Amino acid sequence: MPNQHQVKAKKHLGQHFLKDENIAKKIADTLSLKGYNDVLEIGPGMGVLTKYLLKKNITTHVIEIDTESVEYLKNNYLNLADRIYEKDFLKYDLTEIFKDKPFAIIGNFPYNISSQIIFKTLEMRHQIPEFSGMFQKEVAQRICSKEGSKVYGILSVLTQAFYDADYLFTVPPSVFNPPPKVDSGVLLLTRKANYTLPCNESLFFKVVKTGFQQRRKTLRNSLKALNLSDNLKANTIFGQRPEQLSVSAFIELTSLIEKDKN
Ligand code: SAH
Repeated sequence: MPNQHQVKAKKHLGQHFLKDENIAKKIADTLSLKGYNDVLEIGPGMGVLTKYLLKKNITTHVIEIDTESVEYLKNNYLNLADRIYEKDFLKYDLTEIFKDKPFAIIGNFPYNISSQIIFKTLEMRHQIPEFSGMFQKEVAQRICSKEGSKVYGILSVLTQAFYDADYLFTVPPSVFNPPPKVDSGVLLLTRKANYTLPCNESLFFKVVKTGFQQRRKTLRNSLKALNLSDNLKANTIFGQRPEQLSVSAFIELTSLIEKDKN
């Protein structure tokens, strides 16, 4: 029996191993399997989720930074074969694996790099039609929240500009080993049919990020660094705070700024 010792959880890698098989299966089942033939699992650990992905009609790839977990996977999931990548998800060029093919992302993610996982996904949105998995509950809620909510911010606006974001269910600390200090939340991101914004996309990222750097201030103040004309800043939209603006209002704002610059 190759099923040797379990991997020892390392705190600096955000390792909290899921013990509950039903929840693992439920997360794997969130994938629609539509629009892609490959899925990339981030941080498989000992493969609790991976084994359910391997049962599906899809090619599973896993990327894991921890050598001990990689050894465990190699010994216990022979049919993963050469699709185990011992790499840092944040640094690895994923086109090495997928070329220009579309792929889904899934995982019970390392919570210490949640925002960076989302930002990298957004950068690669042209190849990622679906993204599903588990974050710290507060982060999952933030990504899915709407304008007016206290947790609405950069992650919410940038994600929802390109994806429909659904908060699916909450998972308690007790089903992990070791248990994290916080609840977890599973979400599903489905790329919009039309995910090209009707404004300059890099300016949109800049406006959203700059606007939320001072979320209590009006946009007139928080966007000072963009050197906008007084005429533009007289527009009532600038009297609002960033947390009041919907995604489409941010797009409209970006278009106004774009015109002002021309
Ligand atoms: N999916 C497993 C493990 C979750 S813990 C389970 O549910 O049990 C998070 C996993 O992400 C750990 O295995 C950790 O080693 C891995 N990890 C942490 N940072 C990573 C990174 N930058 N790139 C790839 N994997 C990472």
